Amino acid sequence: MRPFRHPRKRADQGFLPVRRPPVRCPFCTENQDRVIDSRTTKEGDVIRRRRECESCGRRFTTYERVEEVMPLIIKKDGSREPYDRQKIVNGLKKACEKRPISAQTIEEVADRIETEVQECGAKEVDSHFVGEAVMRALRDLDGVAYVRFASVYREFRDLDEFMETLRDLLKR
Ligand SMILES: [Zn+2]
Repeated sequence: MRPFRHPRKRADQGFLPVRRPPVRCPFCTENQDRVIDSRTTKEGDVIRRRRECESCGRRFTTYERVEEVMPLIIKKDGSREPYDRQKIVNGLKKACEKRPISAQTIEEVADRIETEVQECGAKEVDSHFVGEAVMRALRDLDGVAYVRFASVYREFRDLDEFMETLRDLLKR
């Protein structure tokens, strides 16, 4: 089977905000909560979300199975690995180091990337597709974080490519 490759999106196409549906608090039954931490299990098929109720302030955990929806990631060497949310979060954190961006925002950006990967509907996606999704998310979020990530991710083949990225950024 041929790996799924996402058609290139126009550079100015931004993300629609994605909000995960809230979960009913097991303590006070209000359904207003925020996600304070998300981790994928070692096998990559369950997302564990630590949530805090915005009404009573208590914390609880949900487990979401992603086996059916998260595609496998095809790495550069052709091997496959489960989608790993923590890797995305770590990459975002590194790019956003010392930038005015909250941990909550990073989780939300990771949510958006995850949704985009999910919604492509393929069983396997190229790691390149995930990388591009991260690039788009950072470009919308913070210019410095974007260039940092881009310079590492794309390992700019030449100066022209780097300048092109900068030019695109400055136009926005
Ligand atoms: Zn509550």
